[in-house]
Amino acid sequence: MDVIVLGGGVIGTTTAWSLARAGARVTVLERQPGVALETSFANAGQVSAGYATPWAAPGIPLKAMKWLCQRHAPLAIRPDGTLFQWQWMLQMLGQCRADRYAVNKTRMMRLAEYSRDQLRMLRAELGLQYEARSLGTLQVFRTAAQLAAAERDVAVLRDLGVPHRLLSRDELHTAEPALHGVRERLSGGLQLPNDETGDCHLFTTELARQAQAMGVRFRFGVQVEGLEVQGHSVRAVQTSDESLRADHVVVALGCASRPLLQGLGLDLPVYPVKGYSLTVPLADEARAPVSTVLDETYKVAVTRFDRRLRVGGMAELAGLDMRLDPRRRATLEKVVNDLFPGGGTLSDGQFWTGLRPMTPDGTPLVGATAIDNLWTNTGHGTLGWTMACGSAQVVADLVTGRRPAIDTEGLSLSRWQRGIQKFAMKPSAAVS
Ligand SMILES: Cc1cc2nc3c(=O)[nH]c(=O)nc-3n(C[C@H](O)[C@H](O)[C@H](O)COP(=O)(O)OP(=O)(O)OC[C@H]3O[C@@H](n4cnc5c(N)ncnc54)[C@H](O)[C@@H]3O)c2cc1C
Repeated sequence: MDVIVLGGGVIGTTTAWSLARAGARVTVLERQPGVALETSFANAGQVSAGYATPWAAPGIPLKAMKWLCQRHAPLAIRPDGTLFQWQWMLQMLGQCRADRYAVNKTRMMRLAEYSRDQLRMLRAELGLQYEARSLGTLQVFRTAAQLAAAERDVAVLRDLGVPHRLLSRDELHTAEPALHGVRERLSGGLQLPNDETGDCHLFTTELARQAQAMGVRFRFGVQVEGLEVQGHSVRAVQTSDESLRADHVVVALGCASRPLLQGLGLDLPVYPVKGYSLTVPLADEARAPVSTVLDETYKVAVTRFDRRLRVGGMAELAGLDMRLDPRRRATLEKVVNDLFPGGGTLSDGQFWTGLRPMTPDGTPLVGATAIDNLWTNTGHGTLGWTMACGSAQVVADLVTGRRPAIDTEGLSLSRWQRGIQKFAMKPSAAVS
């Protein structure tokens, strides 16, 4: 079986690996000169199944209004001139109800926990080196109200059987010793000991190397321009210089997945949610985190790699704008200065931005489409690395006709019915 995977981010690369291991002949088409050079390049480094939670939650619309007026805000919205931006925000608002939140969280957790287990197996099997740490993650609170709200989250974690520890201000140092010096700023924290951390770009590069050794062909510098569909099947993938055929095609183009499939009547509700990170050299180990610390006030995570710190987060709804906004850097630096003063050399930081491919309900689009041999693996939003290995295995199982190990209910594009119905009325299409 020949499979073409479109996109060589963490999602495309893990998908290629899983497909190859299942026996498929796999080609990855990627426009960059290597893997994980777009959104998967400098993310916050958490593999956080315990934190797999949709952004669309009860109370968020009110919080969002407040954030929009703050200087160091976790959220910013700038009209991008498209109707889609408004549609997407409305769809997201519709998911902020308690019943929708419960459904979406259950789907995300199911996939994220499976993914973490798959990642552990992969690491053990291949000996992947990516500055990984298995010390859990810690969400820290600055106010009594945040700590009280966490007590509600704990009830959910308990119900779902996720190991966790709610820590008082004076216990924070048991998870992150460097926080002892700044405990007066904090009210407490929630530790998720099963979470992991590491460098997603290193991970993807290592995995791609092993996938290549297993026979996966990575074709870099190739721009995918369209899909040619005949009847109910993809006949060919059109690139800038040629037309390529395969038995199956998996779309893992991150934020570019929606425009590619739109011409086929498949309406992926995937919006680019911009985030920022700053990677700085480690200055003083005793003042740095040992793992990931997530500052709930600013929704910014500080992650420890071997000799570096990565601080990342924030969400801007501003279309495909890739400019680096110095105000965002100031927020990232503020969080490091507040929590880990002197831990990293901020002046030597590498400032970066990436676009999270995000669905309104937080759950990715993993599975079949209305076109027989066309599959999606995209829309992983804030937790693409966290959900990568499980999503890849689910897609590989479906493509090769095996039964996935987890329930796939609600994971595919079919939950956003509109595109499917449209396509059903339009059984043949081609874009180029
Ligand atoms: C600031 C920030 C912090 C984050 N922190 C975390 C975190 O701590 N943990 C976590 O799990 N997730 C995190 N994420 C989310 C995670 O990084 C993403 O969900 C994930 O990287 C998405 O991977 P992807 O493979 O779908 O997309 P990408 O990495 O963008 O891959 C898509 C690939 O498709 C290629 N492509 C696009 N169009 C074409 C075309 N026409 N032809 C050929 N190739 C094409 C691109 O070059 C790209 O390589 C964070 C994201 C951001 C921005």
